Amino acid sequence: MKRIAASILLLFALPLMAQPVSINSLRLWSAPGHIRLVLDTSAPAKHTLFSLSNPPRLVLDVEQAVLREALPELKGKNQVIKGLRSAKKKDGSLRVVLDLIREVKPKSFMLNPNSEYGHRLVIDLDDAEQPAAEQAQKTVASVKESNDREIIVAVDAGHGGDDPGAKGRGGTYEKDVVLAIAKKLAGRIDREKGMKAVLVRRGDYYIGLRKRMMLAREQQADLFVSLHADAFRDPRVGGSSVYTLSRRGASSEAARWLAERENSADLVGGVSLEDKDELLASVLLDLSQTGTQEASDQVAHHLLRRLERIGKTHKGRVQQAGFMVLKSPDIPSVLVELAYISNPVEEKKLRNHQHQDQMADAILVGIKDYFTQNPPPGTLLAKLAPEPRGHVISRGETLGLIAQQYQVSLNSLRSANNLSSDRIRVGQVLQIPET
Ligand SMILES: [Zn+2]
Repeated sequence: MKRIAASILLLFALPLMAQPVSINSLRLWSAPGHIRLVLDTSAPAKHTLFSLSNPPRLVLDVEQAVLREALPELKGKNQVIKGLRSAKKKDGSLRVVLDLIREVKPKSFMLNPNSEYGHRLVIDLDDAEQPAAEQAQKTVASVKESNDREIIVAVDAGHGGDDPGAKGRGGTYEKDVVLAIAKKLAGRIDREKGMKAVLVRRGDYYIGLRKRMMLAREQQADLFVSLHADAFRDPRVGGSSVYTLSRRGASSEAARWLAERENSADLVGGVSLEDKDELLASVLLDLSQTGTQEASDQVAHHLLRRLERIGKTHKGRVQQAGFMVLKSPDIPSVLVELAYISNPVEEKKLRNHQHQDQMADAILVGIKDYFTQNPPPGTLLAKLAPEPRGHVISRGETLGLIAQQYQVSLNSLRSANNLSSDRIRVGQVLQIPET
């Protein structure tokens, strides 16, 4: 009996040993303070990674592996890796040596296949010389110097790097169009008096969902706007949607599916599961979320109204789902699915520069709508906001005369004061609407 088991094991083991893992290609994603090297492998690869100094280098040993082709030249700017070389070891493993410009903190893990790539061996290098928080410190410093601080809007382009997001039939990647629109939006925000944008992702690289929120908090953002493009199997489905976080559950089945897909970015785009306090953190976040929920809903409402003016919306109301990236406890956060990239007409629009401008304009105006009505205390906008005007009615005045006096329409005067008739009384205070 034992012998049979042993030979069965051997049978299964043989093909595995005969088939080394092949390393097919290599990509390098460069982010501020972070470099990611991705090796495409034919199967999950067992590997070890260690550092050596003088000169600084990283050594990657991959068990039973072969290189399909010679290691490519490193393209593009990168201030960490000087060169790559490889050698075959006697035990059948492959050694890849990364010659470094300076010492870095390395991390490695395997990623499962996604829509775009197969199995991947990822090496993440944290480059302390390029801290991502560098810019954050500058912002905080300038905030402290001034009482009339700027409103800070964190603009987050979804996905990036090895995580392309959804893909259009014409070959458009969600990660590319949302970055283009995010940059346009950030530029517009920066040109507004009293407002400043922070681009969470600046190039083609992946940032973990929790890290995106962290970057917004480091920058003391007043608002977090995450930009995405939707996809569905039916190419006729279209329209833009605006979401806020739901703590109870998704507002529809489709919303739940969407949130699951967007959240899985961390699995496919890849972060290692090192966040052990994840559960505790999410409980704490949910507890303190309540205060920002209402603000998020208001922003979302304004954005949807503005997006309606430039195209159709998928549903006429703000939707809710459990998006990981919206779970900031203290920053109002919304997620915009700009259009359906799976709809060929909308895919073209997403690529079109003029339409990108229109979308960025609509979102900017929606954001301004919200902050004009709710300027955060201590900001320039709060200081510039007009005092609400009131009028105390004296004897002989009529609603029509008061409307004339302030040059507002009778209807706007009625609605600003929730009047169902034109009867007013002496001593009553009327709110005068802005003209
Ligand atoms: Zn997305």
